[in-house]
Amino acid sequence: MKNVLTIAGSDSSGGAGIQADLKTFSAHGVFGMSVITAVTAQNTQGVFAVEDISPELIAKQIESIFEDIRVHAVKIGMVSKIETIKTIAEGLKKYKPDNVVLDPVMVSKSGYHLLKPEAKEALINKLLPLATIVTPNIHEAEVITGIKINSLKDMEKAAYLIKNMGPKYVLVKGGHLEENATDLLFDGNNIETLTTKKINTKNTHGTGCTLSSAIASNLANGYSIHEAVKLSKEYITTAIENSLDIGKGVGPTHHFY
Ligand code: PLP
Repeated sequence: MKNVLTIAGSDSSGGAGIQADLKTFSAHGVFGMSVITAVTAQNTQGVFAVEDISPELIAKQIESIFEDIRVHAVKIGMVSKIETIKTIAEGLKKYKPDNVVLDPVMVSKSGYHLLKPEAKEALINKLLPLATIVTPNIHEAEVITGIKINSLKDMEKAAYLIKNMGPKYVLVKGGHLEENATDLLFDGNNIETLTTKKINTKNTHGTGCTLSSAIASNLANGYSIHEAVKLSKEYITTAIENSLDIGKGVGPTHHFY
Protein backbone atom coordinates (compact mmCIF):
# COMPACT_ATOMS: atom_id res chain seq x y z
CA MET A 1 0.00 0.00 0.00
CA LYS A 2 1.28 3.46 -0.91
CA ASN A 3 0.91 6.43 1.45
CA VAL A 4 -0.37 9.78 0.18
CA LEU A 5 -0.54 13.05 2.10
CA THR A 6 -2.86 15.98 1.54
CA ILE A 7 -1.83 19.39 2.88
CA ALA A 8 -5.05 21.39 2.59
CA GLY A 9 -8.08 22.95 4.23
CA SER A 10 -11.05 21.21 5.83
CA ASP A 11 -14.48 21.55 4.19
CA SER A 12 -17.15 20.92 6.83
CA SER A 13 -19.63 19.85 4.15
CA GLY A 14 -17.31 17.11 2.92
CA GLY A 15 -17.35 17.99 -0.78
CA ALA A 16 -13.97 19.67 -1.24
CA GLY A 17 -10.68 20.11 0.64
CA ILE A 18 -9.25 17.47 2.95
CA GLN A 19 -12.48 15.46 2.92
CA ALA A 20 -12.59 15.15 -0.89
CA ASP A 21 -8.88 14.33 -0.92
CA LEU A 22 -9.19 11.47 1.60
CA LYS A 23 -12.21 10.01 -0.24
CA THR A 24 -10.25 10.15 -3.49
CA PHE A 25 -7.24 8.47 -1.88
CA SER A 26 -9.42 5.63 -0.56
CA ALA A 27 -11.01 5.18 -3.97
CA HIS A 28 -7.51 4.75 -5.42
CA GLY A 29 -6.45 2.18 -2.84
CA VAL A 30 -3.79 4.38 -1.22
CA PHE A 31 -3.44 5.19 2.48
CA GLY A 32 -4.51 8.79 3.08
CA MET A 33 -2.95 11.21 5.58
CA SER A 34 -3.65 14.91 6.19
CA VAL A 35 -1.97 18.10 7.31
CA ILE A 36 -4.77 20.58 7.92
CA THR A 37 -3.89 24.18 7.01
CA ALA A 38 -7.26 25.80 7.77
CA VAL A 39 -10.72 24.88 8.97
CA THR A 40 -13.58 26.28 6.92
CA ALA A 41 -17.25 26.48 7.86
CA GLN A 42 -18.99 25.85 4.55
CA ASN A 43 -21.74 23.99 2.78
CA THR A 44 -23.03 23.65 -0.78
CA GLN A 45 -24.05 27.32 -0.69
CA GLY A 46 -20.84 29.00 0.36
CA VAL A 47 -17.89 29.49 2.71
CA PHE A 48 -19.00 31.29 5.89
CA ALA A 49 -15.90 31.35 8.09
CA VAL A 50 -12.25 30.29 7.98
CA GLU A 51 -9.73 29.84 10.74
CA ASP A 52 -6.14 29.25 9.74
CA ILE A 53 -4.11 26.70 11.65
CA SER A 54 -0.94 28.20 13.17
CA PRO A 55 2.34 27.75 11.26
CA GLU A 56 3.74 25.93 14.32
CA LEU A 57 0.96 23.34 14.27
CA ILE A 58 1.25 22.93 10.50
CA ALA A 59 5.01 22.37 10.84
CA LYS A 60 4.42 19.86 13.65
CA GLN A 61 1.89 17.91 11.58
CA ILE A 62 4.35 17.74 8.66
CA GLU A 63 7.19 16.65 10.95
CA SER A 64 5.07 14.02 12.72
CA ILE A 65 4.20 12.35 9.45
CA PHE A 66 7.54 12.53 7.64
CA GLU A 67 9.64 11.49 10.66
CA ASP A 68 7.62 8.28 10.92
CA ILE A 69 5.99 7.27 7.64
CA ARG A 70 7.23 6.98 4.04
CA VAL A 71 5.21 9.44 1.93
CA HIS A 72 4.88 8.38 -1.73
CA ALA A 73 3.08 11.52 -2.90
CA VAL A 74 1.89 14.86 -1.56
CA LYS A 75 -1.07 16.91 -2.74
CA ILE A 76 -1.24 20.58 -1.73
CA GLY A 77 -4.54 22.45 -1.75
CA MET A 78 -5.73 25.51 0.21
CA VAL A 79 -2.72 27.34 1.67
CA SER A 80 -4.43 30.57 2.86
CA LYS A 81 -1.55 32.89 3.61
CA ILE A 82 2.16 33.67 3.37
CA GLU A 83 3.21 32.04 6.68
CA THR A 84 1.41 28.80 5.76
CA ILE A 85 3.14 28.74 2.37
CA LYS A 86 6.57 29.33 3.92
CA THR A 87 6.00 26.53 6.44
CA ILE A 88 4.95 24.05 3.76
CA ALA A 89 7.88 25.02 1.50
CA GLU A 90 10.32 24.45 4.38
CA GLY A 91 8.78 21.03 5.05
CA LEU A 92 9.01 20.01 1.39
CA LYS A 93 12.64 21.16 1.16
CA LYS A 94 13.53 19.22 4.29
CA TYR A 95 11.78 15.94 3.48
CA LYS A 96 11.92 16.02 -0.35
CA PRO A 97 8.92 13.82 -1.21
CA ASP A 98 9.08 12.17 -4.67
CA ASN A 99 5.81 13.55 -6.02
CA VAL A 100 4.25 16.93 -5.22
CA VAL A 101 0.93 17.82 -6.85
CA LEU A 102 0.14 21.51 -6.33
CA ASP A 103 -3.46 22.62 -6.81
CA PRO A 104 -3.05 26.43 -6.62
CA VAL A 105 -6.41 26.97 -4.91
CA MET A 106 -7.41 30.65 -4.94
CA VAL A 107 -11.15 31.39 -4.99
CA SER A 108 -13.99 28.95 -4.26
CA LYS A 109 -16.80 28.51 -6.79
CA SER A 110 -18.94 30.50 -4.36
CA GLY A 111 -16.46 33.41 -4.56
CA TYR A 112 -14.56 33.14 -1.25
CA HIS A 113 -10.83 33.96 -1.32
CA LEU A 114 -9.26 30.76 0.06
CA LEU A 115 -5.84 32.27 -0.76
CA LYS A 116 -5.30 35.80 0.50
CA PRO A 117 -4.51 37.98 -2.56
CA GLU A 118 -1.24 39.15 -1.00
CA ALA A 119 -0.06 35.51 -0.73
CA LYS A 120 -0.07 35.02 -4.52
CA GLU A 121 3.63 35.91 -4.91
CA ALA A 122 4.64 33.49 -2.15
CA LEU A 123 2.68 30.69 -3.83
CA ILE A 124 4.47 31.43 -7.11
CA ASN A 125 7.96 31.93 -5.68
CA LYS A 126 8.01 29.31 -2.93
CA LEU A 127 5.68 26.46 -3.94
CA LEU A 128 5.64 26.38 -7.76
CA PRO A 129 9.37 25.52 -8.01
CA LEU A 130 8.86 22.55 -5.65
CA ALA A 131 5.95 21.05 -7.59
CA THR A 132 6.17 17.95 -9.75
CA ILE A 133 2.96 19.14 -11.36
CA VAL A 134 0.80 22.23 -10.85
CA THR A 135 -2.89 22.12 -11.84
CA PRO A 136 -4.33 25.65 -12.34
CA ASN A 137 -7.80 26.24 -13.73
CA ILE A 138 -8.29 29.15 -16.14
CA HIS A 139 -8.76 31.77 -13.41
CA GLU A 140 -5.73 30.55 -11.45
CA ALA A 141 -3.61 30.44 -14.61
CA GLU A 142 -4.65 34.04 -15.34
CA VAL A 143 -3.70 35.20 -11.85
CA ILE A 144 -0.37 33.35 -11.94
CA THR A 145 0.63 34.62 -15.40
CA GLY A 146 -1.14 37.98 -15.55
CA ILE A 147 -2.50 37.16 -19.03
CA LYS A 148 -6.17 36.93 -20.07
CA ILE A 149 -7.17 33.46 -21.27
CA ASN A 150 -9.93 33.22 -23.88
CA SER A 151 -8.78 30.36 -26.10
CA LEU A 152 -6.73 27.18 -26.28
CA LYS A 153 -3.86 29.28 -27.70
CA ASP A 154 -3.96 31.46 -24.56
CA MET A 155 -3.98 28.32 -22.40
CA GLU A 156 -0.83 27.16 -24.23
CA LYS A 157 0.84 30.51 -23.62
CA ALA A 158 -0.05 30.27 -19.92
CA ALA A 159 1.33 26.73 -19.73
CA TYR A 160 4.69 27.95 -21.13
CA LEU A 161 4.82 30.89 -18.73
CA ILE A 162 3.98 28.75 -15.69
CA LYS A 163 6.49 26.05 -16.70
CA ASN A 164 9.18 28.76 -16.58
CA MET A 165 8.30 29.39 -12.93
CA GLY A 166 9.79 26.04 -11.95
CA PRO A 167 7.35 23.10 -11.81
CA LYS A 168 8.26 19.96 -13.78
CA TYR A 169 4.82 19.73 -15.43
CA VAL A 170 1.87 22.09 -15.87
CA LEU A 171 -1.74 21.02 -16.32
CA VAL A 172 -3.94 23.96 -17.35
CA LYS A 173 -7.58 22.94 -16.87
CA GLY A 174 -9.92 24.43 -19.45
CA GLY A 175 -13.21 23.21 -18.02
CA HIS A 176 -14.35 26.77 -17.33
CA LEU A 177 -13.58 27.92 -20.88
CA GLU A 178 -15.31 25.90 -23.59
CA GLU A 179 -18.12 23.50 -24.42
CA ASN A 180 -15.63 20.66 -24.06
CA ALA A 181 -13.49 20.16 -20.98
CA THR A 182 -10.05 20.46 -22.59
CA ASP A 183 -6.94 20.40 -20.43
CA LEU A 184 -3.35 20.99 -21.58
CA LEU A 185 -0.45 19.05 -20.10
CA PHE A 186 2.95 20.65 -20.74
CA ASP A 187 6.24 18.91 -19.91
CA GLY A 188 8.58 21.62 -21.18
CA ASN A 189 8.72 20.20 -24.70
CA ASN A 190 5.33 18.95 -25.81
CA ILE A 191 1.78 20.00 -25.17
CA GLU A 192 -0.65 17.12 -24.75
CA THR A 193 -4.35 17.91 -25.19
CA LEU A 194 -6.85 15.97 -23.10
CA THR A 195 -10.48 16.45 -23.99
CA THR A 196 -13.68 15.07 -22.49
CA LYS A 197 -17.24 16.15 -23.04
CA LYS A 198 -18.50 18.71 -20.55
CA ILE A 199 -21.09 17.25 -18.17
CA ASN A 200 -24.18 19.33 -17.70
CA THR A 201 -24.59 19.55 -13.91
CA LYS A 202 -24.46 22.28 -11.29
CA ASN A 203 -22.95 19.85 -8.80
CA THR A 204 -19.22 20.40 -9.26
CA HIS A 205 -18.10 21.30 -5.75
CA GLY A 206 -14.63 19.90 -5.07
CA THR A 207 -13.69 18.97 -8.63
CA GLY A 208 -10.24 20.59 -8.49
CA CYS A 209 -9.44 18.97 -5.14
CA THR A 210 -10.54 15.58 -6.43
CA LEU A 211 -8.54 15.77 -9.66
CA SER A 212 -5.30 16.77 -7.95
CA SER A 213 -5.73 14.06 -5.30
CA ALA A 214 -6.36 11.47 -8.01
CA ILE A 215 -3.14 12.54 -9.76
CA ALA A 216 -1.19 12.23 -6.47
CA SER A 217 -2.69 8.76 -5.87
CA ASN A 218 -1.85 7.57 -9.37
CA LEU A 219 1.71 8.89 -9.11
CA ALA A 220 2.11 7.10 -5.76
CA ASN A 221 0.83 3.94 -7.44
CA GLY A 222 3.68 4.18 -9.96
CA TYR A 223 2.04 5.66 -13.04
CA SER A 224 3.92 8.19 -15.19
CA ILE A 225 2.71 11.78 -15.14
CA HIS A 226 0.97 11.36 -18.50
CA GLU A 227 -0.80 8.16 -17.41
CA ALA A 228 -1.63 9.62 -13.98
CA VAL A 229 -3.23 12.71 -15.51
CA LYS A 230 -5.19 10.69 -18.09
CA LEU A 231 -6.53 8.25 -15.46
CA SER A 232 -7.37 11.12 -13.11
CA LYS A 233 -9.32 12.96 -15.80
CA GLU A 234 -11.34 9.77 -16.36
CA TYR A 235 -11.87 9.53 -12.59
CA ILE A 236 -13.09 13.12 -12.19
CA THR A 237 -15.36 12.77 -15.22
CA THR A 238 -17.09 9.75 -13.63
CA ALA A 239 -17.20 11.53 -10.26
CA ILE A 240 -18.93 14.54 -11.87
CA GLU A 241 -21.30 12.29 -13.87
CA ASN A 242 -22.36 10.76 -10.55
CA SER A 243 -22.26 13.98 -8.51
CA LEU A 244 -24.73 14.31 -5.67
CA ASP A 245 -27.65 16.69 -5.51
CA ILE A 246 -27.38 17.25 -1.78
CA GLY A 247 -27.87 20.62 -0.13
CA LYS A 248 -29.45 23.71 -1.65
CA GLY A 249 -26.46 24.84 -3.69
CA VAL A 250 -23.56 23.28 -5.59
CA GLY A 251 -23.45 19.60 -4.69
CA PRO A 252 -20.29 17.48 -4.46
CA THR A 253 -18.69 14.98 -6.81
CA HIS A 254 -19.14 11.35 -5.88
CA HIS A 255 -16.37 8.82 -5.21
CA PHE A 256 -16.65 5.11 -5.91
CA TYR A 257 -14.70 2.63 -3.87
N1 PLP B 1 -12.95 24.52 0.41
C1 PLP B 1 -11.73 24.06 0.50
C2 PLP B 1 -11.17 23.76 1.84
C3 PLP B 1 -10.99 23.86 -0.68
O1 PLP B 1 -9.74 23.40 -0.61
C4 PLP B 1 -11.56 24.17 -1.92
C5 PLP B 1 -10.90 23.98 -3.21
O2 PLP B 1 -9.83 23.63 -3.38
C6 PLP B 1 -12.83 24.65 -1.96
C7 PLP B 1 -13.50 24.83 -0.78
C8 PLP B 1 -13.45 25.09 -3.23
O3 PLP B 1 -14.33 24.19 -3.73
P1 PLP B 1 -15.10 24.52 -5.04
O4 PLP B 1 -14.55 25.75 -5.62
O5 PLP B 1 -14.87 23.32 -5.91
O6 PLP B 1 -16.54 24.64 -4.66
